Amino acid sequence: MNRKYRKTVIAGNWKMNKTPSETKDFMNQFKSIMPKGRWCDIALCVPAVCIPAAVRAVRDTRVGIGAENCNANASGAYTGEIATNMLVDAGCKYVIIGHSERRAMGETDADVNAKVLAALEAGLTPIMCCGESLEQRQADVTSEWIAMQIKLGLQGVPEEKIRKVIIAYEPIWAIGTGLTATPEQAQEVCESIRAVVRKLYTSKHARAISILYGGSMNEKNAFDLLAQPDIDGGLIGGASLVPEKFVQIIEAANQPTV
Ligand code: PEP
Repeated sequence: MNRKYRKTVIAGNWKMNKTPSETKDFMNQFKSIMPKGRWCDIALCVPAVCIPAAVRAVRDTRVGIGAENCNANASGAYTGEIATNMLVDAGCKYVIIGHSERRAMGETDADVNAKVLAALEAGLTPIMCCGESLEQRQADVTSEWIAMQIKLGLQGVPEEKIRKVIIAYEPIWAIGTGLTATPEQAQEVCESIRAVVRKLYTSKHARAISILYGGSMNEKNAFDLLAQPDIDGGLIGGASLVPEKFVQIIEAANQPTV
């Protein structure tokens, strides 16, 4: 992390877990133990039907609520989809875009790019995910693959908006598997992502963008991952479902930075 130049962000991704009633229970518990310090931004990205309950619950806190997906179109005949302005109106601040679980359902880099642009246009903070498969890592093409995802995902994002984008590096082989990238592996890729942003924009922009690590981050490994200079926070799945664990990860972000 480097709090001097960029925000530290601890974000939860609930995926398809918790009902609106369970959301209320989680938030009550979470709020009662939430750390008071302001060393990081806290986001919770929840299933669409849980957004109203989550937004209501965090009204008096500094937690921002996010969605797990959006549609790039403003409105129209897209049954079952949710537009970015709907998310804003519902009280969302963030939206996860291009999670590998959605890419596995057919989402392309062009879709990711359109959603990033739509989210920025609406005033949402996109958390744009990228990550390699185990086969790609073993074939030693991780950095080329990630660079391509970043370039395609950020196409058309103007200089004045790039700081608003959060990038989440999530190796697919580490998501929900209990396998975590080592701090060194995660740092290496996050550093390479910053280098891609530097090439696409400027050093100043690259220094200012927050890059998160995601993939079985938990209360035990968070401190070491967050100690890396180019890892500015975490996108956390499983461990964000348990208030005590999520709080411990937030606390791990309270450490001296480079
Ligand atoms: C995720 O869903 O983005 C994720 C990183 O999940 P987990 O922490 O459970 O691996």
